[in-house]
Amino acid sequence: MDRIHVTVRARPLSAEDAQSSPWRISGNAVALTAQPSTRFEFDEIFSEECRTADVYGARTKHIVDSAVQGFNGTVFAYGQTNSGKTYTMRGSSDEPGIIPLAVHDLFRSIQEHMDREFLVRMSYMEIYNEEINDLLVPEHRKLQIHENYERGIYVAGLREEIVTYAEQVLDFVSFGESHRHIGETNMNVYSSRSHTIFRMVIESREKADETESGDSCDAVRVSVLNLVDLAGSERAAKTGAEGVRLKEGSHINKSLMTLGTVIKKLSEGVKGQGGHVPYRDSKLTRILQPALGGNANTAIICNITLAQVHSDETKSSLQFASRAL
Ligand code: ADP
Ligand code: MG
Repeated sequence: MDRIHVTVRARPLSAEDAQSSPWRISGNAVALTAQPSTRFEFDEIFSEECRTADVYGARTKHIVDSAVQGFNGTVFAYGQTNSGKTYTMRGSSDEPGIIPLAVHDLFRSIQEHMDREFLVRMSYMEIYNEEINDLLVPEHRKLQIHENYERGIYVAGLREEIVTYAEQVLDFVSFGESHRHIGETNMNVYSSRSHTIFRMVIESREKADETESGDSCDAVRVSVLNLVDLAGSERAAKTGAEGVRLKEGSHINKSLMTLGTVIKKLSEGVKGQGGHVPYRDSKLTRILQPALGGNANTAIICNITLAQVHSDETKSSLQFASRAL
């Protein structure tokens, strides 16, 4: 497996926040100005003036290209609420996010593979309180994960739409987006409390050559590309959560912790230690298992804000991201 790539993206700050920021980015490292020993180094760091297209080009494009060639891939946006995860994955009216960039690229790349024919399917789901909901079919809730020889690990009953062009996919995403769970915490923001998995399944086989007599033994290639907008990584205690919000918080923390452990194990595996990988400890890692590890490509975009007020959260996000290296 390729190493897991970890990219950090810092969102823009107000002039005031920028002035009082305790952090400094230099090259591919970020550090607390007053404590230079608190220094984190990554594959690269994208500072606020960078565009999503730069982030995409650096670490995601090759994962999309590999998916078209038959290799599984997963890209995560990690970070506290308001750090720019959804901006990075979905985009805004100003600039497209990773999902639209990847979808357009994928269909472009398919057209270039003239020798193969493709079947592309998409699904869109959320994990909320360890329950899997289908965002394409709002009444499909609490779906179960199954595993069998033929299909491997799959979410039973999840709608898969056959798609043939980019705008069609993005229309489904917009439809799905309107069903996400959003709750107001007393951090005074609408914070996203669920993980969202956008998935494309790409099937291809060599086009039958009409001039030759049917050599049809070419295997079908199937690969999965997951683009994941994770729930906010802030600790429940920090947001003053109680009751249902606290329960959400602990589910989120547990699944993000499991994700961290899985990724850590996988990156240790590359160094030859391997061992038990606890995919089964959360729905998120279980669903993503086939596209994590093995010869799958994985990238984490760690979204941070360098404002003073979020310093502790930023530090823990950077620690999470460093564990994956
Ligand atoms: P999250 O999904 O992590 O909670 P959002 O993506 O919703 O955070 O971002 C919070 C706010 O900051 C949004 O209003 C978003 O438009 C803005 N924002 C985040 N990242 C950027 C960026 N790189 N450039 C411009 N605006 C951004
Ligand atoms: Mg969000």
